[in-house]
Amino acid sequence: MPSLFLDGAWTTGHAHRRDDVINPFDQSVVEAVDLADAEDVHTAVTAAARAFAGDWPRSPAADRSALLLRVADLLIRDKEEIARIETLDTGKTLVESRIDIDDVTAVFRYYAALADQDPGRVVDTGQAHVLSRVVYEPVGVCALITPWNYPLLQLSWKVAPALAAGNTVVIKPSEVTPLSSVKLVRLLEEAGAPRGVVNLVLGDGPSVGAPLVSHPEVDMVSFTGGLSTGQSIIRASADTVKKVAVELGGKNPNIVFADADQEAALDYALTAVFLHSGQVCSAGARLIVQNEIHDEFVAEVGRRAGKIRLGNGLDPESESGPLVSAAHRAKVEAYVASALDEGARLVAGGKRPDDPELQKGFFYRPTLFADCHRNMRVIREETFGPILTVERFADEAEALALGNDTDYGLAGAVWTSDMGRAHRVAGALRHGTVWINDYHPYVPQAEWGGFKRSGNGRELGPTGLAEYREAKHIWQNTAPTPLRWFKG
Ligand code: NAD
Repeated sequence: MPSLFLDGAWTTGHAHRRDDVINPFDQSVVEAVDLADAEDVHTAVTAAARAFAGDWPRSPAADRSALLLRVADLLIRDKEEIARIETLDTGKTLVESRIDIDDVTAVFRYYAALADQDPGRVVDTGQAHVLSRVVYEPVGVCALITPWNYPLLQLSWKVAPALAAGNTVVIKPSEVTPLSSVKLVRLLEEAGAPRGVVNLVLGDGPSVGAPLVSHPEVDMVSFTGGLSTGQSIIRASADTVKKVAVELGGKNPNIVFADADQEAALDYALTAVFLHSGQVCSAGARLIVQNEIHDEFVAEVGRRAGKIRLGNGLDPESESGPLVSAAHRAKVEAYVASALDEGARLVAGGKRPDDPELQKGFFYRPTLFADCHRNMRVIREETFGPILTVERFADEAEALALGNDTDYGLAGAVWTSDMGRAHRVAGALRHGTVWINDYHPYVPQAEWGGFKRSGNGRELGPTGLAEYREAKHIWQNTAPTPLRWFKG
C-alpha cells in the first residue's frame, strides 16, 4: 500500500524511493514506506492550495467539527492497532502509547467543540453610520512538521486545530517514526476529509522538509522539533514571510524544597525524566534539591534509577524502552562523556545495559549525575536522553535563579508544602508550564509552549486554535458622503 497521500490519492511518489522503518528494540524492519521528493512536495502544496480555494474554508464549522469527531471515534476503534504501531516505531511502552492515543482522541474532541465557536466581534467605533466587525479566517495552506518522540500526539496538536479553523494541510512527520501519521491520514480519509484538504509527504528534512518550508504557496509552518532545526526554519520562512509557529526543546528544572512530601517528590523525580527514556521535550532533566535533604534524596533517586526495568515496549513488564536510534544513543553517550570530563559525579547508570536480550536495541541505562553546575554542557544543553543531573540550593532565591538559568523555557516544577512559596516560585519561573507538586500532566484545554528559545506561539487551548486563524477587520460605512479632501 503506497504511503504518500497527495491530492486525495495514495501514491508511491515521483521518485519511487522507499525507506525501512526500524524497530529500536531489535533493529528489525517494521515496514518500508515511500519517500517523497521536491516534486511530490509541490504536488501536495498545490493540491492544498486548490482545496483552500474551494469550499472547505467556507464550509459550515459544524461540518468540520463533525469530521473531527468522526476521526476521534475511529481512533478509539483502532486504538490497539495504533498503540502497537507507535510502540514498534518509537520503542516506548505500550502503556505509554495507549495514553498517547487517548490524549490524541481528546485533542480531536476538544477542537471539534471549539470549531463553531466563532470568536468574531462587533467593534464599537462611536460612529453611528459605521458597522465595524472583526472576523477570524483560516490562514491557508499549513505545513505541519513533527518530531519522532510523540509522533501522533504532536501531529494531533497541529492537525486538529488547523482543520477546525478551515485550513488545508501538508503533513511531514519525522522520517524516523512516520507510521502512525500514515495511519492517521488514512483515518482522516475514512472520516471524509475532502480531496486536497489533507496531504502527506514522507522523507527527511533536507529533501522534503526544506522544500515545503520554502514553497511560496505555503502560508504557515507549524514546526515541533529541535532548536537548530527551528532556527533554520525561521530563517527559511523569511523570504516568503510565512507565519511560523515553532515548539522547540527544553531544559526543564524540577525544584524540590526540603519541606516537600519526600515520597511523592522522589517518585516523580524519576517519572519526570526517565519516562520514554528521557526523550520528552518537557523532561525534568535538571533536579534542583535543597541542601537539607540533598544527600539522602539523591542517593534514593540513584537507587531507584538503578532498578528501572528496560525492555521491549510490547512486554508489559518493561518500564522503559530503548532510545530511538543508534545515532541518538551516540549523542546521549557523548553527553555522559562530557559530564564526566567536566567533573560531574556519576551516581547511577552511565552505560549500556548488560542484559543479553537488550543487545540489539538502542538501550541506555537511566543515568544520574550529582555535583553538577551551570557551566557543564550537560546542564546547558538538551540531552533528550535518560540523564538526570542534580544541582543544590540553599534558599528560595537561589532555587529561582537556578530554575531560570537556561536559554530554554518550556516547563518546570516546584515541590513544597508551603503554598505561598509554591505560587511565588511558579509565578517567577520563566517557563511555559509550571507544575506544583506534580510533573507532566497537561490537558487539551490549557496552552502548551515555550518562553525564550523553547519556541514561539502556543499549541492546545484556545490559543492553539487562534494560531491557525487570521483576524480580518471589516468596516462598512452605511451612509457614505464625499469627504472633499481633494477639492478637484
Ligand atoms: P528535529 O528538529 O531533528 O526534526 C523535527 C522535524 O523537522 C522532522 O520531521 C525533520 O525531518 C524535520 N526537519 C529537519 N530539518 C528540516 C529542515 N531543514 N526543514 C524542514 N524540516 C526539517 O527534531 P527531532 O529530533 O525529530 O525531535 C526532537 C526535538 O523535538 C527535541 O529537541 C524536543 O525537545 C523537541 N520537541 C519539542 C516539543 C514541544 O512541545 N516543545 C515536543 C516534542 C519534541
